[in-house]
Amino acid sequence: MKTYNTHQRKALIDFLQAHSKEAFTVEEIVEKMSGGGISQSTAYRLMTKLVEDGLVHRSVKGNSRSFVYQYVNSEKCDGHLHMKCTDCGKVYHLDHSVTALIQNDIKESTHFEIDSHTMLLGKCGNCK
Ligand SMILES: [Zn+2]
Ligand SMILES: [Zn+2]
Repeated sequence: MKTYNTHQRKALIDFLQAHSKEAFTVEEIVEKMSGGGISQSTAYRLMTKLVEDGLVHRSVKGNSRSFVYQYVNSEKCDGHLHMKCTDCGKVYHLDHSVTALIQNDIKESTHFEIDSHTMLLGKCGNCK
């Protein structure tokens, strides 16, 4: 059963991929995609699915109740750590080399092995 439109799903993914360094609310996405002819309810439904599929990361924006969405392909992101800003909800990818550095350092001093799916929380440069 197909409850969503494949064409709209693709348009949504394309948009998010093109702006993978930014996190948007669904309202912002619909607004920026104007011309894409996607309704808010469709966008919400598609986003939920994309989050389930591991293509999009959902975060709470600051201490508001709204969510922001960002293209984070969990498959491609296997093997490096991420940092998430608790204010704007944006996710930052750490280089593999930086990830290895942190993991090795911690492992050497504490014998603790950090799971690469760990999300480091903090404040990004834009929100400080
Ligand atoms: Zn990543
Ligand atoms: Zn931020």
